[in-house]
Amino acid sequence: MTHMRPQDILLPVPSGLCCKAGGFHIDPVRPVERALITHGHSDHARAGHGAVLATQETLDIMRLRYGENFAGATQAIRYGEQVRLGDVTVSFHPAGHVLGSAQIKVSSGGTCIVASGDYKDARDPTCAPFELVPCDVFITEATFGLPVFRHGDAAAEVKKLLASVALFPERAHLVGAYSLGKAQRVIALIREAGYDAPIYLHGAMEKITRYYQDKGIPLGELRPVKGVKKAELAGTITLAPPSATSDLWTRRFPDPVTAFASGWMRVRARARQRGVELPLVISDHADWDGLTATIAATGASEVWVTHGQEDALVHWCRTRGLAARPLDLVGYGDEEESEVVATEDAEA
Ligand SMILES: [Zn+2]
Repeated sequence: MTHMRPQDILLPVPSGLCCKAGGFHIDPVRPVERALITHGHSDHARAGHGAVLATQETLDIMRLRYGENFAGATQAIRYGEQVRLGDVTVSFHPAGHVLGSAQIKVSSGGTCIVASGDYKDARDPTCAPFELVPCDVFITEATFGLPVFRHGDAAAEVKKLLASVALFPERAHLVGAYSLGKAQRVIALIREAGYDAPIYLHGAMEKITRYYQDKGIPLGELRPVKGVKKAELAGTITLAPPSATSDLWTRRFPDPVTAFASGWMRVRARARQRGVELPLVISDHADWDGLTATIAATGASEVWVTHGQEDALVHWCRTRGLAARPLDLVGYGDEEESEVVATEDAEA
């Protein structure tokens, strides 16, 4: 077979990354015939596709979020398994982002592209670690694609939280965390730090968190916060979606300390603006060092940069002699900022 140009394999189109030769889209933002989905966050995994190929965990998470009929047909793929689609071969590899998250490798005619979706190279006890996949073209996210973003050690951030809990035994601690991935990672890190009291959950994260437990991820004793008396919540930790930590819902807690676990907490102004008393720099995306180290390690000679701060990363690639360009894909948000949950719905 003749050597294929990368753009003959994958092409950015309004509905997402399109592979004509394989007859599919990756993480399409509009309904398509066949979708390959990197992970369960709602900007990547949408309902309404004809067929979905994804890891079993991602399929399960989509089912939990959208119901049984989220797609016409589904097919599960294991990490490392190769599937032939039209003229291309695809395989999924751990992205280290959330449970079931995958980078998708697409190969054809001696050319190999890796669409990494969202990823992180930092340790996470709740999902398979990021796997480095050598490739010709690496498609990278750029959520934290500025040198100012250095996430540091998540375990040290959790220690700050536990120090605050020890310091204020009469107050409740309310930790804002995205309900898929971040919340479970924070709970796992709290357990690793030796805290073994029950941890309380906002209604919006119960289902997903139970799913993580069903998959064998140890999270200790968890309790729904609904119905618990205010006085009983003194000295406790509750995990809630970020949007819930700034509304009336917080009145059920005694003098709550509001924390927020996000890579954005590196920016003090953001924490202040959101009224976050205890910012915790914990991110499920690679930071600047993680992005640049990963790009270099893939050995890719060409890099496509998407959703986030594309410019600095494109510039960094070019100074290293790599061909790089921003991909103008629209419809991908940043789950760390964008989760809005109607509290009433979640409590129903
Ligand atoms: Zn994501």
